Amino acid sequence: MLNFDNRFVRELPGEREQANRPRQVFGACWSPVMPTPVAAPTLLAHSREVAADLDLDDSSMASPAMLAALSGNALLPGMTGYATCYGGHQFGQWAGQLGDGRAILLGESVNRRGQRFELQLKGAGPTPYARRADGRAVLRSSIREFLCSEAMHHLGVPTTRALSLVGSGENVVRDMFYDGHPVAEPGAVVCRVAPSFTRFGHFELPAARGDHALLQRLVDFTIARDFPDLSAGPERGLAAWFREVCERTALLMAHWLRVGFVHGVMNTDNMSILGLTIDYGPYGWIDNFDPGWTPNTTDAAGRRYCFARQPAIARWNLERLADALAPLLPREKAVTLAAGIEHYDEIYSAEFCAAFAGKLGLIRWTQDDGQLLDDLFELMRLSEIDMSEFFRQLAQLDIARPDPDVLRESFYREDLRQRFSPDLVRWLARYSARLRHDGQPAERRIASMNRANPRFVLRNYLAQQAIDRAEQGDVQMLHDLLDVLRRPYDEQPGREAFSARRPDWARHKAGCSMLSCSS
Ligand code: AMP
Ligand code: MG
Repeated sequence: MLNFDNRFVRELPGEREQANRPRQVFGACWSPVMPTPVAAPTLLAHSREVAADLDLDDSSMASPAMLAALSGNALLPGMTGYATCYGGHQFGQWAGQLGDGRAILLGESVNRRGQRFELQLKGAGPTPYARRADGRAVLRSSIREFLCSEAMHHLGVPTTRALSLVGSGENVVRDMFYDGHPVAEPGAVVCRVAPSFTRFGHFELPAARGDHALLQRLVDFTIARDFPDLSAGPERGLAAWFREVCERTALLMAHWLRVGFVHGVMNTDNMSILGLTIDYGPYGWIDNFDPGWTPNTTDAAGRRYCFARQPAIARWNLERLADALAPLLPREKAVTLAAGIEHYDEIYSAEFCAAFAGKLGLIRWTQDDGQLLDDLFELMRLSEIDMSEFFRQLAQLDIARPDPDVLRESFYREDLRQRFSPDLVRWLARYSARLRHDGQPAERRIASMNRANPRFVLRNYLAQQAIDRAEQGDVQMLHDLLDVLRRPYDEQPGREAFSARRPDWARHKAGCSMLSCSS
């Protein structure tokens, strides 16, 4: 059973207004709101690991009362519906109030081990922050969020989780590429789970409005509830907390680069204060290695949020958070926030090097390895090498007699494979010499590389195939993917199809390489 203890609404100011209509919300961190019921909910999938974290067994997941709660048709005892108020910088510009427009929190569940989880429905109807939108979500984007957040968790990447995916039995109208072609699509509701869904934008909004009292309350609450290890005096507390946020964000960026993940919309309202991957929208996975790639068609011109820029953007976002927090510190203490940003730089480069040392099978990173890796990236880019396939196969290289043939499958184009073969041979010779210098036994190196280089990631085209079938009423592939992605670092005989590099038909297909924010 779920046991609720709803600190956010108990300890932070909320609105009294009960009406569910769009408005600007001042002096409050949240607004009460009930989910809007759906016509014919069905549980399409759930994560047994998240259910276990919440102490939910199979019979409680199967109960009608649970389905009603997960679809937004009723609350369970102890639940309370609310949406939170935040702002954000979108594509570099201050966007004012945003808030949970289609996310409704149901409360905080505390499990038997004392771990606290916020439960949040996404797509359960409009809130006071919905502006003119409908508060709903389509099945395709809900499948993408459900599958990817679980896949990321199993890859070891910090992330919000997903307990359930419920089909609403209702249609939602979306103009997928904003080009005047609205289509009715099946709707869905995902129940997301995380210790906290608080975003950088939660702090930015009261700061932008000059409401320092509210800002201070939110900071104090966040440190107390979400960072219990940090205490001490109020000023040191703030700077130490910001430093911790910087550190977690740095770690997250190293993870994204390590696994080849592109978030797609790194606005400050999509940055988790806990350093979790949050808000799975037009994200994508690197197929052929291209540092400038973004799946988000809305960002195609500027490529602000492309793969390789993510660490720099995260830093920019941290600077915006620092700007928001600065008024809470006496002027002479503002430098402590700048020190947090410097800490970000240090941790990010240390984590990036450690991650790629692991991927390359090096015992430890040394200065010269930077050049080796840069040269590899350039070769991968020019010859259109598949990132996941390449790194996974690299462990199979015989470093006494390096043969480029073990990497054959990581090329998308035969002409490029042949053209860049001499470069690959030269690079492999340098790399093998580097590994021989380490002198690590092959079995040990292979085992560690296999722990660093996933065999299975949620390739864009696989997610799209699961979506196409689910839209036809067949959720088998969705379940198969969920299962395969539970053990991404294991070879899974019989499951090879789920690690195959992108087929040609998917190269320029909507949903596979191009996505919009319409979801
Ligand atoms: P996103 O681009 O999903 O991060 O959303 C940016 C803002 O728009 C957030 O305040 C969302 O809650 C809101 N939003 C996005 N889609 C919808 C929708 N269908 N209904 C209501 N609000 C939405
Ligand atoms: Mg968002």
